Amino acid sequence: ICVGVTKERLPQERRVALVPEIAKRLKSFGVTIVMETGAGQTAGFLDQHYQEQSVKIVETASAVYQQANLILTVNAPSSEQINLMTSDTVLIGFMSPHRDPDRIRLLQTRSITSFAMELIPRISRAQSMDALSSQAAVAGYKAVIMAADLAMVFFPMLTTAAGTIRPAKALIIGAGVAGLQAIATARRLGAMVEGYDVRAATKEQVESLGAKFIDMPIRAEGQGGYARELTAEERQQQQEILAKHVAAANVVITTAAIPGRPSPKIITQNMVERMASGSVIVDLAAEGGGNCELSQAGNTIQHRGVVIHAPLNVPSQTPLHASEMYSRNLFNLLSLMLNKTGELTLDWSDEVINSSCLTTAGEIKHAPTRTMVE
Ligand code: NAD
Repeated sequence: ICVGVTKERLPQERRVALVPEIAKRLKSFGVTIVMETGAGQTAGFLDQHYQEQSVKIVETASAVYQQANLILTVNAPSSEQINLMTSDTVLIGFMSPHRDPDRIRLLQTRSITSFAMELIPRISRAQSMDALSSQAAVAGYKAVIMAADLAMVFFPMLTTAAGTIRPAKALIIGAGVAGLQAIATARRLGAMVEGYDVRAATKEQVESLGAKFIDMPIRAEGQGGYARELTAEERQQQQEILAKHVAAANVVITTAAIPGRPSPKIITQNMVERMASGSVIVDLAAEGGGNCELSQAGNTIQHRGVVIHAPLNVPSQTPLHASEMYSRNLFNLLSLMLNKTGELTLDWSDEVINSSCLTTAGEIKHAPTRTMVE
């Protein structure tokens, strides 16, 4: 098997699918590796670091596609890229299966076997391959750093000759993987932190990180450990209770999501207008439409003195560690696919391999994607 990695083509993307440490571990499976020159540079890895692990560096992406039969990527490749791949190529990365039906159709007609990291099942055995979680943890951390940067206040309590500074009040809404990491990071910076989620199991997790849980009678557990959408009545009740916590916070970080649905709108314009000027909202749900009514995806705006930051592709802004974690997720998945002599053997009876496969042998294997494309 020859593993290939190119530069990511999406603007603003700084991550790379393969880091030198994982190149070394892949080598122990007896594979060869080819990479486009400069592919790791935006994540802090130079060609030389890969060459030290016997990776072959080539000048162009098309040279990678010609030589490699297993392509690792962060983002789904463009149609032009897919057209450069040979038909027996195996492709692994975030494939955005719910977006861009034309691309899925092309993967199908070109007979490319593609695996979507979004489709890795969230079972214990697959935790080490769960790239949604690893990248969400990076985003949760970075959201707090962004908030601290935009805030007009210190996070920690300071006792100085110029008087005592009170710690910032941070409110984290949505206590999944990103939210819990945000809580931990805000605590480390010394803020007083409140956390909130609609799933009852999060209370203990929030409290174990030293934050206060905002308890409400609403319980909205959905399928597979995720949340379900709230009813209009529940939403109203949630807003009434949350409004005063939002108003009191210097910093609000929102991370709420429901699989396959637009992000729930939790912070209304009215709630923003009750916040003190100089407060900050970082909306990590911007990609799915945002948790704040006023968020503009990809932009930072001000509304009556409140800064509303709605960044996209946040994991890419901590590119070295995000790439390292992602690359390890890929390696753990590949370990299920590679035998000791470096050949690829796909065991379709393995739940992880079976459910993460998007297209193979001219078919769309993932049923919801097939329905969307047809
Ligand atoms: P997510 O990104 O889908 O959502 C983030 C959080 O938003 C969730 O905690 C959700 O409950 C919350 N939320 C949704 N609607 C809300 C609302 N209206 N108000 C407030 N909060 C709202 O979730 P995630 O971070 O991907 O993970 C969610 C669950 O999956 C967790 O229980 C996590 O432990 C579990 N998980 C399991 C595995 C595994 O076993 N391999 C891996 C990752 C996550």
